[in-house]
Amino acid sequence: MPDADALSHLTIPADLLPRDGRFGSGPSKVRREQVDALAAVGTTLLGTSHRQAPVRSLVGRVRAGLAALFDAPDGYEVVLGNGGSTTFWDVATLCLVQERAAHAQFGEFGAKFAAATTRAPFLAPSHVVSAPAGQVAVPEPVDGVDAYAWPHNETSTGVLAPVRRVPGSRDAGALMLVDGTSAAGGTTVDVSQTDVYYFAPQKSFASDGGLWLALASPAAVERAARLEGGDRWVPESLSFTTAVTNSRADQTLNTPAVATLVLLAEQIDWVLEQGGLAWAAQRTATSAGHLYSWAESRDWAAPFVTDPGLRSPVVGTVDLAPEVEASTVTAVLRRHGVVDIEPYRKLGRNQVRVGMYPAVEPDDVLALTACIDHVVEQLV
Ligand SMILES: *Cc1c(COP(=O)(O)O)cnc(C)c1O
Repeated sequence: MPDADALSHLTIPADLLPRDGRFGSGPSKVRREQVDALAAVGTTLLGTSHRQAPVRSLVGRVRAGLAALFDAPDGYEVVLGNGGSTTFWDVATLCLVQERAAHAQFGEFGAKFAAATTRAPFLAPSHVVSAPAGQVAVPEPVDGVDAYAWPHNETSTGVLAPVRRVPGSRDAGALMLVDGTSAAGGTTVDVSQTDVYYFAPQKSFASDGGLWLALASPAAVERAARLEGGDRWVPESLSFTTAVTNSRADQTLNTPAVATLVLLAEQIDWVLEQGGLAWAAQRTATSAGHLYSWAESRDWAAPFVTDPGLRSPVVGTVDLAPEVEASTVTAVLRRHGVVDIEPYRKLGRNQVRVGMYPAVEPDDVLALTACIDHVVEQLV
């Protein structure tokens, strides 16, 4: 990479810059209106008890909003707890997998949950099907498996996977645990194909991290109650059943971040007002259409995910030719306030990764690609 002096002449004219330069995959852009709404409750909700009506009704607003947004099937309930999606993997390992899990992994996040169940001493070794980064693996039916798990959107690579029950698994009573962390709220999903569709608020929901949320089927709630009522020791903070009980009362076991809930509630209501998930999906597809067609039309760029049917609408990955150093491009953009398009650190590719969640304006994605063009013209 050229040194800082050599780069300092690389500038981007102000009229090319996006109106908002936040393209991170998580934490991701928070809209100004959400922050204004947060300020508006600065003396009424912030700094008040999560056991009293105002914060509980905020939690209720989040739960009802998510049930509406995802068109929750009969009997499904919205459950939440502290700790984010990573904590939910531990919750699920302890409370939702009975004897053996099967995973499809095709990137860092799917692999992390697979590692969690594989290492659990009270479970049989997990069955894992894998695909290389940029491709997809789907879980295959396995005898003796009672929980199947995969990510809807693999945020580390920009691959969107199908969300469909594993054939034959329903008769066997197996649960489908789908990680919707980056997909949820930014693209459509049929929640009835899952038993637990879980996510965190800092991606498509434009809020902060630290919370996990899940749409849970009656079978999942029942499984947890049975396992936790048996002889498996489950710490209270990782108990799914405790989270269900508290959620039903619009509470969490321990103190939640109230500001995170406010930002989340605002985003859910905004997406609902605009037309719900179908609207969000159309908006992210527009952004992604810009990004991928731009990448295909440049001879120094190409979508990393070669199968167009697998390309994520919410997290786009674009490989750059070796003569165009991605780290130089991202450094110049960062100097201009256009941030967080670095690739997932462990992927180790000459790549940019662009968060295109509903909060991001499709026009800003166009502006981003114009900025990259401008930098590359000066570089090569
Ligand atoms: C970001 C992400 C996670 C981790 O979420 P945390 O809330 O940081 O624990 C898990 N899975 C996917 C698919 C993600 O994108």
